[in-house]
Amino acid sequence: MIGKHDPRHTDLDKLSPKQMGQLVSKHIYISFNSKTGVSVNSRISETTVSHAGLYWNVECSCHPTQWCTKHCYARHGHFATWDKDEIDDLSNQQTKYLVNSILFNHYANAPQTEVDREADSLVGRAMQLGFNNVRWNGGGDLSRGAVRLINSVAARYPNFRIWGFSRRSDLLNELVPSPNVLFTVSLDPTTPPLGGLHGDSLFDLVKAAISHGGRMAYATEVPNDSLIPELDAYIKDLSKGAARLDTIFGEHMGPRHTVVGHPRECPATQGKNDVGCQSCQWCFMSESQRRAKNVTTPREAFLLHKV
Ligand code: SF4
Repeated sequence: MIGKHDPRHTDLDKLSPKQMGQLVSKHIYISFNSKTGVSVNSRISETTVSHAGLYWNVECSCHPTQWCTKHCYARHGHFATWDKDEIDDLSNQQTKYLVNSILFNHYANAPQTEVDREADSLVGRAMQLGFNNVRWNGGGDLSRGAVRLINSVAARYPNFRIWGFSRRSDLLNELVPSPNVLFTVSLDPTTPPLGGLHGDSLFDLVKAAISHGGRMAYATEVPNDSLIPELDAYIKDLSKGAARLDTIFGEHMGPRHTVVGHPRECPATQGKNDVGCQSCQWCFMSESQRRAKNVTTPREAFLLHKV
């Protein structure tokens, strides 16, 4: 019996019937929407969830800044009510992300053959849906199990791309740099020491970005944010030109969209229906593809791929 104070539980055979119902043969659940394509999400906050007198301690993957806590779309709307602690009170979507978190906990220490099998399943299912790429962390951030899984996919499927966003410098440092793993490191106005105390520091995030191609993003709710040129200069100086602010995101939650008015702004955060990652591809184009196609901003990438 698993009690409230027992260690973190990762035994898949003890999943509740509702959790089992969300598993695809005990594999990571991949989400789909027409804007982002297929994505892997996990739970954003630590929790203890109970079912039939059993308690599940689920690790949190995010290290949120104050800005994240206020503006992250995964903390609001249909992602909301994360404070529920009975498995049957969670929505189907929340249950799926909870199960993904439990599976990631499991893969943190599972035999490599099991991690490789999950990598095969994930890529196979994404390709069956018609995608040669999967976006990581539409909700949630990296975890030890996720890092092992991404490393396995990268090595086993060199033509399949894993891309996404992270604020976890410790785990980015554990990802094996690979041409088919394209992570953008996220910042905001409260990334320490810019304006807040929580989350990984700007210094650590720039250092982590360097080993993954130097791609960084900045999210803001301030049009014409004057911090952007300051950050450009700081990152260039600290990384000796090896990292840069690649993409600017306006705050976007439901119908609310900030138009920052910056040439490197993500075209999808301005609330236009015909814009999505699969019709832009900026964040999962390699540097050589960007050069070959002569695109230098997300907007140019979108105009190139728009059909
Ligand atoms: S820049 Fe393009 S690929 Fe990146 S998040 Fe925005 S729409 Fe998606």
